[in-house]
Order: sequence, then structure tokens, then C-alpha cells
Amino acid sequence: MFRKLAPANNFLTMTHFLGKHKLKAFVPAHLTEITGVIRYVPKDLSNEDIYKSITCDAEVISVKRFMRKVDGKLTPLGTIAVTFTATALLQHAYIQMFRYPVHIYIPPLLQCYKCLKFNHSAKVCRGSQMCSSCSGQHSYKECDVEKIVCINCQGGHLAISRDCPVKQQKMEEKKNKYLKPNRSYAAVVSIPAMPDPRAFPNLKPVKTIDTDINKVPYNAEQILNNELIINALVKSLVMLGNDKSSAPITNKRIKDILLSNLIP
Ligand SMILES: [Zn+2]
Ligand SMILES: [Zn+2]
Ligand SMILES: [Zn+2]
Repeated sequence: MFRKLAPANNFLTMTHFLGKHKLKAFVPAHLTEITGVIRYVPKDLSNEDIYKSITCDAEVISVKRFMRKVDGKLTPLGTIAVTFTATALLQHAYIQMFRYPVHIYIPPLLQCYKCLKFNHSAKVCRGSQMCSSCSGQHSYKECDVEKIVCINCQGGHLAISRDCPVKQQKMEEKKNKYLKPNRSYAAVVSIPAMPDPRAFPNLKPVKTIDTDINKVPYNAEQILNNELIINALVKSLVMLGNDKSSAPITNKRIKDILLSNLIP
């Protein structure tokens, strides 16, 4: 792309062309929070230690270690949950220079302790208090019915039992929802552009430049990964360093030299 933009004058007249291509250059990916799981993280590292040392291709929002209650005491597990701002789950992350694969996090299925239905909690429940034992309209604590009837499937088990086929189906649905990628690349590019350079964290370097760079969000990573730009920068610096003339080093001079190296 860069080379095609010569001569520099054309730069300013190619809005149309670039406008058309900008869609590709700045994949307007919709940023979402994605939580992944990392296993076998040394247990002596606190959440803060991990947060400070973790590096990956996205912004880390939070780090939380899974804990387990052992003899009434919370003990740390080797597994941590990391929430990123990204468009898709990352392949790996680095903690204290070690590389860890990132796995998909499937949150446990929520079952309401009030109405005993799924995917909401009792705090926000609008249903009535039902009995997890006999399926009557009372709390299981007040239950005096001997026969066990599941409110969700009418089977002979408690409504909270993992044997319940309805519960098993809900667990399966939840798993599928998290395992299946819900957004294809095509879907991502059709979302309108966002004026936020962080909106495309996983892109490979793109060799497109817009007409008015001041108006276009740029991605520092893209620039650093773009060999054309880096080579031109280095070349310009060397040229400036070797220049024996007494001309003052002004913004304009630097720009001119840089431009001559970017657009030969
Ligand atoms: Zn409920
Ligand atoms: Zn009951
Ligand atoms: Zn059941």
C-alpha cells in the first residue's frame, strides 16, 4: 500500500480509495470482555503479582485465582481466571516470562435457589419460592412431603441434582454457548468502525495509511511491527546524524527526510 501512495501529493486526494480500504485496515472489531483460564500458576503469586507481570496480546482487566475451602479455610488453587478486553480468546499469555496456554472459561450453571429454574440467581428472581424436594410452593426447609419430585422434570430426584436431565441439558447448552465462536470474521468486519485504536488488538501489521493521520487513530503496535516505517525511521535518523550541513533540525526537515524515505 505504502509504495502505491507515491507521489506524496496524491496522498491527499486518495480519500476515496483509502476510505474503501480502511475497513480492512482497521478491523472495527467489537471489544468484549473475555475470560480465560490459566492452569498451573505458582501458588505463591498473588493476584496483584500476576496482574503486574502478565503480558499478552490484549489488555488485562482482572486476574483472579480460584480458591477452594479446605477445613473451613480458603486455600489457593493453581488455576486463575484472567479477563481480557479482546475480540476472541487469546492462545497464550506470559506470566513472569513463562508462557501459559489460555483455556476457555465456562462459568458454572446458575440455578436459582428460589424458583429452581436456571440462568438467574435468587437475588433477581421474580418467581415464587418452590421446594427443591417435593416441588410444592414452599421452602425445602418447611417440607413435610415424603415423595421427591423434581420441579423441572418431575423425576424422582431433588431439583438441584446433577442427575436431572433438564439440568444436564442446560449445562450442555451453556458449554456450547462458550465453546462455539459466536462471531465470524465476516461478522466482525461488518460492525461500524470504532474510533478507538485498542479496538483491533490482534491484528497483524497493516500497511495502510490514511490521508489525515491526525484524524485517524493509529495503533502503536502496527507501526512498530511495520518494517517499512521502522526502516524509514532508522534511515532518516542516520541521514540526519550524517548531515554535515548547518541547517537546523526542525520538524519540517525531519518530516521531509522521513517522507522521502517512506515514499521513495
Ligand atoms: Zn428464580
Ligand atoms: Zn416440599
Ligand atoms: Zn429433574
